Amino acid sequence: MKIAKNTVVSLTYELKANDASGALVEKVDETEPFVFLFGNGSLLKEFEDNLAGLEPGKAFEFLITSENAYGGFSEEAVIDLPRSIFEEEGPADEILVVGNYLTLEDQHGNPLRGRIKAVGAENVTMDFNHPLAGQNLHFKGGVVDVREATASELEHGHAHGPGGHHHH
Ligand code: ZN
Repeated sequence: MKIAKNTVVSLTYELKANDASGALVEKVDETEPFVFLFGNGSLLKEFEDNLAGLEPGKAFEFLITSENAYGGFSEEAVIDLPRSIFEEEGPADEILVVGNYLTLEDQHGNPLRGRIKAVGAENVTMDFNHPLAGQNLHFKGGVVDVREATASELEHGHAHGPGGHHHH
């Protein structure tokens, strides 16, 4: 069966930064493939466009530029916040560590996930850019399985079973 809208796809892949470092960002192997409902708009369009029509056993390799992925890096998304925000419930030395990810709320109560870039006596510098902002994404992998989505998967908008959502 070929990858098309309303199929459930299992993939293995390596995601590498497409820069001089070529750093491995993510690796998904056969022990725990990436399983998803194809064509419901939850993944990057370019990602799905490159996979459409492939069958189990086929390999793929493609590049998604940052404009078509998570956008450019924005300096405006790097913000200094007063340290007191983090210390409302007491000393926050344990969480205020450079590199830690924290989820804050914007003025509308929406969650905002950011990475701590610097910690000072007065201010904490947070970077709210997506971790992959400004990066071209290099995907290389293989198609493990393609099957038709069940009625309940289509209704829920996600894959069930191994690698998919589990309901209790
Ligand atoms: Zn479900």
